[in-house]
Amino acid sequence: MHHYLFFLIIILIPSSLFGFNRTKTCLSTDEHAERLAAQAKSNAPTCRGNAVGTDFQWKSNKLTYKLHTLGISQFPGEQGRLRLLEEMQLSFEPWMDVDCSSLRFDFGGTTASFGHKIDEVNWIGFYDTQPWPWSESVVAITVVTTLPNGEIIDSDIEINASNNTIGFDGAPLDFDLRNLLTHEIGHFIGLDHSEVFDATMEFETRKGQIKKRDLDPDDVAGVCEIFPNDFVSVDPDDSGCCSTLRSRQKQTGWVLFSFLFIISIRNRFKR
Ligand SMILES: [Zn+2]
Repeated sequence: MHHYLFFLIIILIPSSLFGFNRTKTCLSTDEHAERLAAQAKSNAPTCRGNAVGTDFQWKSNKLTYKLHTLGISQFPGEQGRLRLLEEMQLSFEPWMDVDCSSLRFDFGGTTASFGHKIDEVNWIGFYDTQPWPWSESVVAITVVTTLPNGEIIDSDIEINASNNTIGFDGAPLDFDLRNLLTHEIGHFIGLDHSEVFDATMEFETRKGQIKKRDLDPDDVAGVCEIFPNDFVSVDPDDSGCCSTLRSRQKQTGWVLFSFLFIISIRNRFKR
């Protein structure tokens, strides 16, 4: 079968204050190509013209993520490793610690499955010895893969540790891991960038920034729309023979979309 991978990088429109944006499937391939060529900064793929998009949506409100085993050498020793695990798991807490949402995350251990495989393994990986494949101004990126109906089947988070120092304490010369991850986890669950300047899902960051560690009310509104308390989870393992990805891949005609969401370095103050 063929996989059609579309890479999405979208221009920020800074003037509006609409609030959180869910990621949608509405963009045409032309727009993807145009925007990729422009190497523009990312923002919400709001539907253009009369296009009606389908919101990205996980089938389950209990999601599992793994830590990639490569690229964690910059956190040396047992102490470094434990701190990394702690900070990574803390980054998921704000998204779960929301009264109006039923979203839950579980840490599923480590994985060696690098690359953007459509494998339904959601991983967090660091590039340090491996060359960073994206623009140097991109500090972290989330690759979200969906079915044509917007169902998310895979989210992977990559962190650029080859051009940047990733730290845990908000030090002025480091990019704070929780600050980066909390933002990328928003993409993981189906949020796009927000026009609200103080939101975690605002699209830029800078060294020493920690304000994205905590959710803004705008981010809370987003997660509660996606995973409300009355969310009905459809566990693919409980629904018989034909709902797993492997079974889906046997069917012809499935098109899987990969969307890239970046957080880039703030070069100048913007409002
Ligand atoms: Zn982003």
